[in-house]
Amino acid sequence: MSYPHLLSPITLSGVTLPNRVLMGSMHTGLEDKVAHFPRLAAYFAERARGGVGLMVTGGFAPNIEGWLSPFGSRLATGRAARGHRVITDAVHREGGRIALQILHSGRYGYQPFSVAPSRIRSPITPFTPRALSASGVERQIRAFVRCATLAREAGYDGVEVMGSEGYFINQFLVTHTNKRDDRWGGAYAQRMQLPVEIVSRVREAVGKDFILIYRISLIDLVPDGQDWSEVAQLARAIEAAGASMLNSGIGWHEARIPTIATSVPRAAFTWLARKLKGEVSLPVCASNRINTPEVAEAVLAAGDADFVSMARPLLADPEFVRKAAAGRAASINTCIACNQACLDHTFSQELASCLVNPRACHETEIVIRPTGAPKRVAVVGAGPAGLAAATTLAERGHAVTLFEASGAIGGQFNLAKRIPGKEEFNETLRYFGERLRETGVTLRLSVAATAELLRAEGFEDVVLATGVTPRDPRIPGQDHPMVMGYIDALTGARAVGRRVAIIGAGGIGFDVAEFLSHDGPSTALDRDAWRREWGVGDPSDARGGVSGVRAQPSPPAREVFLLQRKVGKPGAGLGKTTGWIHRTALKMKKVQMIAGVRYDLIDDAGLHVTIGDERRTLAVDSVVLCTGQEPRRDLLAPLQAAGLRAHLVGGADVAAELDAKRAIRAATLLATRL
Ligand code: NAP
Ligand code: SF4
Repeated sequence: MSYPHLLSPITLSGVTLPNRVLMGSMHTGLEDKVAHFPRLAAYFAERARGGVGLMVTGGFAPNIEGWLSPFGSRLATGRAARGHRVITDAVHREGGRIALQILHSGRYGYQPFSVAPSRIRSPITPFTPRALSASGVERQIRAFVRCATLAREAGYDGVEVMGSEGYFINQFLVTHTNKRDDRWGGAYAQRMQLPVEIVSRVREAVGKDFILIYRISLIDLVPDGQDWSEVAQLARAIEAAGASMLNSGIGWHEARIPTIATSVPRAAFTWLARKLKGEVSLPVCASNRINTPEVAEAVLAAGDADFVSMARPLLADPEFVRKAAAGRAASINTCIACNQACLDHTFSQELASCLVNPRACHETEIVIRPTGAPKRVAVVGAGPAGLAAATTLAERGHAVTLFEASGAIGGQFNLAKRIPGKEEFNETLRYFGERLRETGVTLRLSVAATAELLRAEGFEDVVLATGVTPRDPRIPGQDHPMVMGYIDALTGARAVGRRVAIIGAGGIGFDVAEFLSHDGPSTALDRDAWRREWGVGDPSDARGGVSGVRAQPSPPAREVFLLQRKVGKPGAGLGKTTGWIHRTALKMKKVQMIAGVRYDLIDDAGLHVTIGDERRTLAVDSVVLCTGQEPRRDLLAPLQAAGLRAHLVGGADVAAELDAKRAIRAATLLATRL
């Protein structure tokens, strides 16, 4: 398939871009220290080489008040601007274009100097902001202008003014954060003066031939958010003030509706970009959950937008555009929207990376070089760890055979992809299937590798990626016919009754609860059904897209109890940015999540438990065990006895707190060294 709309050039403020792909802003953590700029330069240079039309950096504060975190990224001095040259030069050497995002955090600042239109703390930060005086507002505007001028001096091709996601500018626009009675508050026409003033003064300062993107909040997803007439009024004023393009912002960070998680349908919000296009004549960029060239092309071809923003998909595959253009879309490493290595890291103050591409933000450390000494290497197990090891080893020039005892590649991903809302896992399997072919790995399915076989075939090194086996929880009565493992429940090998107890509320317990409580097609594949389920309205009818809109989840398929022994909140170990979504989704399905449970006995009456001091019998007709994993490494000792060099990766190495992120990273690192 070709992508004529996606790959057509466009000129913005005198700068001609080769295609319609905008790498959206993504805070990686590398922005926070100048010492990390060479790494940031390598990260962007790799993506410029991959052909992306225009990239936007992570957010840089224009002053200390606008810091996201103490000593975080900031561009406020000529000296700091000179430090950025390493980034802009690296991008330009590769023929790329890059804009700097100016992000003032306002009351979202995780720091004591934060300022806001009014003294109102956000629900997601512990610091109460200082309310700005009128001269304080003027100082912030000047800081935006100075930051944009410095960005130009630093060699950037443009700036993006961050006006969405509930940050500083967005806080002026809505009444629940702006209680001012001076010229920056009151009626909407006054509340919107801040962004208009910023854009017009930035344009005046940087001149005509410099890209100026304004990221506008199309749907705030908070009560008292903007209605559509206000969004449209602002958009027209921003156009008149001199912006080159409008980028879409979806939802405040404090919104309780998912906007980018994997369970959000692809292109779920592009209808808003289309709505915006009806209001303005400057180019509009759509964003959120656009992760394949097909989806991007469809959005553009339908006339919903002129550009598509993809941040995480470019983390997952820096060569996204080049592969699409070369007709190799099947070998794109697709972002599965898991957030596990990007946003979860950022919100835990760790450097961002990518679950499916551990090189993201680590380009200078994880280098895949051709081997000087090719060997015959066997990889045993074709789960995520085995696939990453085999393809990386083969890419380096080793002769690799991948053994898999079952009839398909994918390991635990074959279970994950069955969960409603986790369909994206199919893409990783497609990618690895293609990579195996491209790198020339010999795949031997339905072969249980033994030490004798591997020795007889003359392998020098063996990578053991044999994964995990479910842990035996040793609960009295667990051999009762109503008890089953999660694999049987998910594959349909065993029928599950109408009332179910799930023992263990880790990642898999949550997945099984989602699977068993859900009926009918996945809402991740149906945008309208998903909007009904979460209560996302049209801002033309409902303020912020949510005021007065009722969530209408479909009824649960079963009565489900999700149990854990620990006393804390179930799902506490799930992703920082996605755990709340899983908990909310299960609550909508009326799943009863119970912590502090002791499992006493399973018999014909059901599951007997003690919760605190109370003994209860859950009269269930099925019990599903999701009690964690043990490493599966039976082959290790025989291999060592046969004198073969064995290397453990993934769950076969450490099963505790195993996730695909650790498995793929460890396997890739091992493969760069062998
Ligand atoms: P897990 O996260 O370690 O959870 C195991 C659960 O079983 C815990 O709730 C634990 O809680 C309970 N448990 C452990 N030993 C037990 C015993 N002897 N008797 C009864 N209960 C016991 O493991 P998992 O759910 O198998 O998931 C494996 C990994 O896959 C996860 O760590 C996760 O990273 C990944 N994964 C993630 C997701 C996701 O993020 N959505 C989804 C699927 C898988 P108590 O000890 O409190 O009972
Ligand atoms: Fe996408 Fe997950 Fe990678 Fe983030 S970690 S870029 S969400 S695949």
